[in-house]
Amino acid sequence: MCIFCKIIAGEIPSKKAYEDNDILAFYDINPQAPVHILVIPKAHIPSVDAIDSTNSAIVAKIFETIPEIAKAAGITNGYRVISNCGDDACQTVKHLHFHILGGKQLSETMA
Ligand code: AMP
Ligand code: ZN
Repeated sequence: MCIFCKIIAGEIPSKKAYEDNDILAFYDINPQAPVHILVIPKAHIPSVDAIDSTNSAIVAKIFETIPEIAKAAGITNGYRVISNCGDDACQTVKHLHFHILGGKQLSETMA
């Protein structure tokens, strides 16, 4: 089981920000901004590169829920949503996740 599947299963603790039947959001253990939340599907999808017509509904649901998660976390002035995909992007956990970063003025640099 991958580390995020273990978090979903409760085998590894996390600080939850949101949960429903399909989605879990929890605070990143190594925050890069005052608010740094990871949003993941409960189904194991390896990365953005594995999104297709059979699993994209959950991705739509994640994006429908992100505004609610950001608001509930106290973000009021904008946020960045990032998904690292593959080795060149430094994806370290091979379970699809979207970083929500906010709570400060972020850098203009994307890469
Ligand atoms: P990425 O580099 O895009 O694959 O992001 C993986 C993220 O998962 C990193 O920002 C890590 O800090 C975070 N992370 C790894 N293990 C945990 C954990 N047990 N709880 C919370 N966040 C974690
Ligand atoms: Zn997984």
